[in-house]
Amino acid sequence: MSGLRPVVLSGPSGAGKSTLLKRLIKDHEGVFGFSVSHTTRNPRPGEKDGKDYHFTTREAMQEDIDEGKFIENIMFSGNMYGTSKAAVEDVLAKNLICILDMDIQGVKKIKETDLNPIYIYIQPPSIEILEKRLRERQTETEESLQKRLEAARTDMELSKEPGMFDVLIINDNIERAYDELKDILNDEIKKVQEA
Ligand code: 5GP
Repeated sequence: MSGLRPVVLSGPSGAGKSTLLKRLIKDHEGVFGFSVSHTTRNPRPGEKDGKDYHFTTREAMQEDIDEGKFIENIMFSGNMYGTSKAAVEDVLAKNLICILDMDIQGVKKIKETDLNPIYIYIQPPSIEILEKRLRERQTETEESLQKRLEAARTDMELSKEPGMFDVLIINDNIERAYDELKDILNDEIKKVQEA
C-alpha cells in the first residue's frame, strides 16, 4: 500500500503526547506503528528498551549518526534523541501509518525530508499546568524539570510559526484531545482499514 502519510506528534514534554499516541496505537490494531527513537537518557520506570525508545550511549549513537543512519537527531535537556532511518522504514515496510514523537527541532529537520507527514502539535493548557503535571509524574530531577519547562516555553513560541503545524490540539481534557486526534486522522485510518 502506498500513500500513507506518517504522523508527527510534537509538543512539550509532559503535554500528553505519549499517552495519546499509545492509546491511538492500542485502539487501532494493525493501523499504526510507532517509530522507536534512540535516546541517551535513562529509562523511566515502566519504559522498555526497543519499545518506548532504543536506550543507548552517546558514543554508540554518535557513531551511528556519523555513519548516516539517522534522519534527524537533537540534544534535549542534556541528552541525545534521534530518529533512525531503520525506525521509520520498519513501520513503512509493514504498511502501517508511522507515528513519530519529536520536539520542534526534529520537526524542522523532518520538513527537509520527503516523508510528507501530518504535523500535529499537542499543547498543554498552560505552563503552570505543565509544571504541575511534570511534578506529579515524579520522573524528573529538579534540574531536568527546570530544563524541560524552559524548553517548553521556547517550544510553545516556535509552534506558532506559520506553516509549522497542520493542527494544534490543546490537551486540557484527555478524552476531548483524543477524540480530536482521531478525527484528524480519520481519513488515513480508513485508508488502512479499507485496504
Ligand atoms: P522524553 O525524555 O520526555 O521522552 O522526551 C523529551 C523530548 O524529546 C520530547 O519533546 C520528545 O517529543 C522528544 N523526542 C523523543 N524522541 C525524539 C526523536 O527521535 N527526535 C526528536 N527530535 N525529538 C524526540
